[in-house]
Amino acid sequence: MENKIGKVWLVGAGPSDPGLLTVKALKLIEEGDVIVYDNLVGQGVLSLVPSGKEVINVGKIAGNHPVPQDEINLILLNKALEGKKVIRLKGGDPFVFGRGGEELELLVDNNIPFEVVPGITSAVSVPAYNGIPVTHRDFTSSFHVITGHTKKKDEADVDYDALVRLEGTLIFLMGVGSMDRICKGLIDAGMDKNMPAAVLEKGTRASQRKVVATVSTLVEESQKAEIKTPAIIMVGKVCQLSDSFEWASKRPLGELKIGVSRPEKKASKLAGKLADLGAEVVLLPSIYSVAEEDSDILKSTFEKIDSYEWIAFTSPTAVEFFFEKLIGYGKDSRCLSGTKFAVVGKGTHNKLLSYGIISDLMPETFTGEALGKLMSDKHITGTVLIPRSKIGGSELLNALDAGNIKYEDVAIYDTKYQNANNIVSYTEDIDMMAFTSASTVKSFVENNKNIDFAKVKAVCIGTETAKEATNHGMEIFVSPRATIDEMVNYIEKEFGIK
Ligand code: SAH
Repeated sequence: MENKIGKVWLVGAGPSDPGLLTVKALKLIEEGDVIVYDNLVGQGVLSLVPSGKEVINVGKIAGNHPVPQDEINLILLNKALEGKKVIRLKGGDPFVFGRGGEELELLVDNNIPFEVVPGITSAVSVPAYNGIPVTHRDFTSSFHVITGHTKKKDEADVDYDALVRLEGTLIFLMGVGSMDRICKGLIDAGMDKNMPAAVLEKGTRASQRKVVATVSTLVEESQKAEIKTPAIIMVGKVCQLSDSFEWASKRPLGELKIGVSRPEKKASKLAGKLADLGAEVVLLPSIYSVAEEDSDILKSTFEKIDSYEWIAFTSPTAVEFFFEKLIGYGKDSRCLSGTKFAVVGKGTHNKLLSYGIISDLMPETFTGEALGKLMSDKHITGTVLIPRSKIGGSELLNALDAGNIKYEDVAIYDTKYQNANNIVSYTEDIDMMAFTSASTVKSFVENNKNIDFAKVKAVCIGTETAKEATNHGMEIFVSPRATIDEMVNYIEKEFGIK
């Protein structure tokens, strides 16, 4: 049988902020079979890679040496020959000092189809996030992007005389190690010693830093600030605009890196809102849900589905699996015309609404316990069906027991804690973790066994989530009301820029 040849996409991942990913890049990340990435690709971008994909980190292997370029080229070739959709993710733009050209040569030689997806280069975006326009009519009419080191890693053969004569903005990538030589080269070639200059570190992340000085003081100031890579060096009059155009760090959550432990395959409303306020968000995929295998219990439950007086849902996921099973057993919502519905909170209410059903009962505080109490107060005489996760907590059941309510607790899905691929994990520079359920806490703990939980700041939605975080010794902060919006408000009030 003839093997179908795959294809390689050389994709720019932007400077780090996942918001700067192109629509095309995101689509490819979601659809590709293999993701080959290196260290410059931001954590926030990597956290968008769906789990279950083959991921290859060519930025780091044992001993901290990156995979040699020849080997990277071979990986791309071989994966394409296996018939795969290969996504080669590169920081910034793949053709701006990204060795993108080199990676294509072997593919061309072997007739492998490919596409190039340009990305937003750090050369212009990192200055922008530091309030520096690379051109400005009052100061300069050109900008020039220059590498600080050459192929052989020795002295870059930069023509400093020519650069000074251009009178444009100079942007050096990969220049931190040779900053001394660059600044001296420019001054020796006649540049004004007071020419504004800047070093911009980790641009577009929450931890981005800048040093603004002059071409003669930049080296000393950067040493004082202990600037590290990745950073770009900028020289030119536009650097003096940096303070007046500063904006990124002034956003309410602009200096915070927040980990969001979100259920796998769920678009995170929380993550979106935090990013809107300027936070650097890292999605740590956590729990995922699988339908319970069909069984006698499930079969008989759905056969007599119209006999329950109430059905209580404790999560949007439970609603989804309920209807999946209902249809699976050959029924549809017409058989629920006499049934009443209780939901634990707004999200579950809305999910039910999307199936054309308005819930009859929802507690004021969105907890299982509150729902149970509310149902007990109703003096329900018939049986309540609780189709939910196999690992559901006991709060709701205890409250129903206390009210002598008859119920059937039926597991329709199971919650798995294991992260399907570990492309992104918790790192200590994450300022806080945001947890939206006790199970996301459990999953976080399961997937990050080796970290010191006492150092983790946990912002929790509701008391059950907080209890779980406390059990592991985390420092907890609880949003007063258990909704995503309230949680975001709370984070902004407690930790945001005042
Ligand atoms: N293709 C990339 C550049 C690769 S060369 C692009 O278009 O952006 C690597 C250099 O890019 C680093 O040494 C650093 O100078 C710069 N760089 C990349 N990302 C950066 C970031 N987020 N902040 C500061 N500099 C960055």
